[in-house]
Amino acid sequence: MQTSSPAYGTPEDAIAKDIHSTEHGERVGRERLPKPEKVDGQSRILWEYMLPVIVFHLLIPLAFLPYFFSWWGVLFLPLGNYIFTSIGIGAGYHRLLTHRGFKCPKWFEYLLAALGVCSFQDSPARWVLVHRVHHQHSDHQPDPHTPRVSAFWAHMGWLFIDNRDLSTSAAYERYVRDLMRDPFYFWLQRGMNWVWFYAAHAVLVFATGLLVGWLWTGTGAGTLQVGLQWLFWGVIMRTVFTWHVTWGINSFAHMWGYRNYETREDSRNNWLFALLTNGEGWHNNHHADPRSAQHGHRWWEVDVTYITLAVLEKLGVISDLVRPNTAALDRKSLAA
Ligand SMILES: [Zn+2]
Ligand SMILES: [Zn+2]
Repeated sequence: MQTSSPAYGTPEDAIAKDIHSTEHGERVGRERLPKPEKVDGQSRILWEYMLPVIVFHLLIPLAFLPYFFSWWGVLFLPLGNYIFTSIGIGAGYHRLLTHRGFKCPKWFEYLLAALGVCSFQDSPARWVLVHRVHHQHSDHQPDPHTPRVSAFWAHMGWLFIDNRDLSTSAAYERYVRDLMRDPFYFWLQRGMNWVWFYAAHAVLVFATGLLVGWLWTGTGAGTLQVGLQWLFWGVIMRTVFTWHVTWGINSFAHMWGYRNYETREDSRNNWLFALLTNGEGWHNNHHADPRSAQHGHRWWEVDVTYITLAVLEKLGVISDLVRPNTAALDRKSLAA
């Protein structure tokens, strides 16, 4: 657990500053915004991220050729979405590393972060930095990915162009000092180590597919085919699917859905993305109470990630799971 308390090195500091709220807690009108100030003509295109995204999307049609397609491969989408993205990104990167919504042993924290890296959504430190800035400035300048710029920008456009405000060592020092002082997150951040970590997991999935193919078919051709099916569906298709599922929180869950609480931004509870992300789509609830590890607040707002964490708490793996602060939420409630 991090213990430092610098200006923005703790999640409390990073999320508690409500610098855009008005006196009465009203949102400012939904005016369009330009891109963040430090995204301009001098900004570099981030080819190292853009190229894999383009290549993975171009590979989608191949996955439907009979040679690569398999129905059990399709099962990798919900299964991989749950393991790598809901547990890795939702519970790990988001509810634990960004907001410190529960406590756990270091080995378990690293396990969640490692699963998150296998979702190819950047390193833990980078992801957390961007998300802490998002909470601090949601739908106001300089929110890195508000749909007030454009829906495409919020969904994926912001990923491909360098925002110089977010890439300086001063930004890392200000927003994620806690993670940068941790040797594992520092190592993942250095060079492109997180990319190599992702590549290693892809090789592992491919090798497991080869083993299954060999045991199942006993032929060289069958071994290769099953291995490639695992690679296509267990890695490439699953990664593309979970990219859009996660990106949808930044775009759709700031545009479409209902609001339980008056908050200073445009966050929405979007049932479709709540279903797809296993709970992250209850995004208005989350913005109203960022620290809470429980994003579903009403009985029908099913939050599978929180249910998983509650079971892990019962089993003694994690502790101090932060529940909604009902007194504070009542004051923001829009319920009649
Ligand atoms: Zn948001
Ligand atoms: Zn958050």
